[in-house]
Amino acid sequence: MDEGANPDHEPLPRLYRRWLDRLLGAPLRREKKANCSQCPMCRAGDTAALEVYRPDVKCCTYTPKLPNFLVGSVLSDAATDERTRAVLTARIEDASSASPLGLRAAPLYRLVYEAAKAQGFGKLESLACPYLTISATGGQCGVWNHRNSACSTWFCKHIDGPHGAAVWREVESLLRRVESLLSLWACFRLGLSARTLAELRAEVEADSAARVTGELLGTWEANTAKLWSDWSGDKLGFYRESFALIDALSWADVLALGGAELSVQAEALAALVQAQRGHPPSGLQLGSFRIQPAGSGTFILVTYSRTDCVAVTRAELAALATTPDDSSRVEEHLRRSMSPEKLAALISIGVLITRERQAYSPQSLHGGML
Ligand code: SF4
Ligand code: SF4
Repeated sequence: MDEGANPDHEPLPRLYRRWLDRLLGAPLRREKKANCSQCPMCRAGDTAALEVYRPDVKCCTYTPKLPNFLVGSVLSDAATDERTRAVLTARIEDASSASPLGLRAAPLYRLVYEAAKAQGFGKLESLACPYLTISATGGQCGVWNHRNSACSTWFCKHIDGPHGAAVWREVESLLRRVESLLSLWACFRLGLSARTLAELRAEVEADSAARVTGELLGTWEANTAKLWSDWSGDKLGFYRESFALIDALSWADVLALGGAELSVQAEALAALVQAQRGHPPSGLQLGSFRIQPAGSGTFILVTYSRTDCVAVTRAELAALATTPDDSSRVEEHLRRSMSPEKLAALISIGVLITRERQAYSPQSLHGGML
């Protein structure tokens, strides 16, 4: 059975699902609260978040970096639609976006994004991802089966609240390292010289002022054309070959290429996921949260995220305010004033925390090594 079709497991892109299943021993749980086909962030008046996104762009208001092998994966997929193929081809011809390492946001877009994201994320069409087909009924991602580390792991809400978010942040960090490592390795395997690889790394780290100026003056192409070496006439072929190389790698191969740092990071993630799987919750007590009045006797409780909140009534808030210190009595006390669903929602976002949750944290597992 294709795990991507399993309603209990997150449908990650095939390549990343294969590697992560191997590392973690079982698929990651599906984030059912973040139902992208019926986006909960687009409901006006919703009290489970402090903001509302536009239904045509939702959270796809940024341009992800696609490493060379994922660009090749999209190009090699017979199911890729014509619009996505055309967008991708145009971006590959745009020297300010494309390099042998992959495709990224053009410098000017990055400046605008950094300036506007605090207010405009989820709202500004001008920030919309180029791979998104915008429609009034909801945008459609053209590269869904080939999403990068950020797009595969970002969710507006988590069934396991802050701890679920912590797991996904670690998954993203691991995959980001893998993307950086493997895109460079693919360049090496496809014959780019050591000098070109050094220039590529410098180009990636070039400061934004130089890159913006190059984009505006149209000189970036002359600066970067030599980076393609013998592949300058066949960039699409270069990306396809990158994918063929990376798709053949097992997780053990990836670890061998990544060395000690990647292995340590992978083990830390496996330990974090294992700790979460291992403990049924018990012994509730009050966590830290912020209270935002929402009118009509309703209050929004905010913990780890503006997009994953819970609304309570005045009576429910009063019950929380009188939570007993004895953790064995907390559940009984709160059940007198609220439904089991509301109690579960408060536990989910960390308004109420369990003894087990206090016993470990992602930071304690990392031990400052990474
Ligand atoms: S992850 Fe994005 S598209 Fe999916 S439900 Fe959340 S805001 Fe909507
Ligand atoms: S690649 Fe897909 S999921 Fe990622 S931002 Fe673009 S449209 Fe959204």
